[in-house]
Formats: sequence, structure tokens, C-alpha cells
Amino acid sequence: MIKDNILKIRERIALACAKAGCQSHSVNIVAVSKGRPAEEIKEVIAAGIVDIGENRVQEALGKFYQLRATGYRVRTHLVGHLQTNKVKEAVKIFDLIQSVDSLRLAQEIDKQAARMNKLQDILLEIKTSPEESKFGIKPDAVIEVSAEMAGLKNVRVRGLMTIAPLADDPQKARPYFRMLRELQNELNDRRGSHDELNILSMGMTDDFEVAIEEGSNMLRLGRAIFEG
Ligand SMILES: *Cc1c(COP(=O)(O)O)cnc(C)c1O
Repeated sequence: MIKDNILKIRERIALACAKAGCQSHSVNIVAVSKGRPAEEIKEVIAAGIVDIGENRVQEALGKFYQLRATGYRVRTHLVGHLQTNKVKEAVKIFDLIQSVDSLRLAQEIDKQAARMNKLQDILLEIKTSPEESKFGIKPDAVIEVSAEMAGLKNVRVRGLMTIAPLADDPQKARPYFRMLRELQNELNDRRGSHDELNILSMGMTDDFEVAIEEGSNMLRLGRAIFEG
């Protein structure tokens, strides 16, 4: 089932890319495996996906340990909100922390990464929609926050991430995705380089085709892979 789901997703990505004029191999799939056992993650890996995302540090610890113990090599992503007191563990186990939503959190990550002699890749989570419940840096603060982060030696900002609000129609997500892409362009123009900050993590099960049309190169997919 997981294998078939992934085949179907790849077809849909190819179609969306054909329409948007992108190369489908440049669109990365992160399988978001929250609530799913390590056995199912192995099926995902067997189907050729190497990027695995989790929402909670605690849950990830156990599952990544199981995967490593059986010889599986994956790139690990944290996509859920990170509390300061979990940063140390997070830096230990995640290759990319996608949910950095404040300068304070980035500073703590820098501190822990320095202790471990690690250069920690992160994404800035942007609150593109005004919905109250969500985490993320406000769009009008991103320039300033990212300038402050430039001074952190053990943190490397690789791009931006956003979650579009739930909607009945995927088209409704488009303005939020577009805003993220515009922010990325603005940041890169200011830095004078489009090389380092090149990840745009947007698009989930209900809206990933629209995200691709708006320039996403990293989809975070849960239900499309594990359900149905
Ligand atoms: C759960 C989750 C996903 C995957 O969501 P689906 O709609 O199941 O594809 C992506 N990103 C984040 C931050 C999540 O928490």
C-alpha cells in the first residue's frame, strides 16, 4: 500500500512539474511519519524515499534508534514545534530542523550545536497566514531575524518552511505559498546569493500540487503516503 501510494505521488509530482516547468527530481519528498511505526518507515525507505520527518523529538528518538540499529540510513527532519528544553536532543538526531520560529530558539540550537561541534542546518518557519494558533516568524520580521541569525556560527539557515491553513480547496493555499517564495527571493537578494538559502519546504497531502506550482522543492507528506 505504501509503495503504491508513493508511486501515485510521484506521478502527481511529475504532472504538477510538467505544468509548472520544473524537474520532478528536484522536488524532495519528506515522509512525515508521526504516529507511524518504524516498520512502516522501512517500507517508505524501500520505495526510495530517504527523507523522514517527525513532529516530536521524543517519538523520533525511539524510531530513529530502531532504524539505525537495523542499518537504515536516512536524512532526518524535525517538522513540529521545538521547545527550548528539547533542543539538545533535537540537535543530536536531526539533520534539518525545519521549525525554527524565533531568534531565541536559533540561539539555543547554536549553543547546543557548538557543544557537539556540529553545523546544524535549519529552516525558518514562517507564519504566512494570520491564523492565531500557528507557530512561526511573522513575514515582516523575517529579514531582521535572519540578519541576527547570520551571527550564529553553528547554525546554517537553508531556507523557509510554512504550513498553509486548512481549507476545503487547495487553491486557497496558493497566496501563502507565493508569499513564502517571495520572502525567499527577497532574503537571497539581500544576501547577494541564491545558493545557500535554497530550500522551500511547503505543500502537504491536501495542497502539494499547488505548492509545486509556486516553487516548492520540499514536500512534507504524511497521509498521502501512509493512508488510503
Ligand atoms: C503532519 C504534518 C505534515 C504532513 O501532513 P499531511 O497533511 O498528512 O500530509 C506536514 N508538515 C507538518 C508540520 C506536519 O505536522
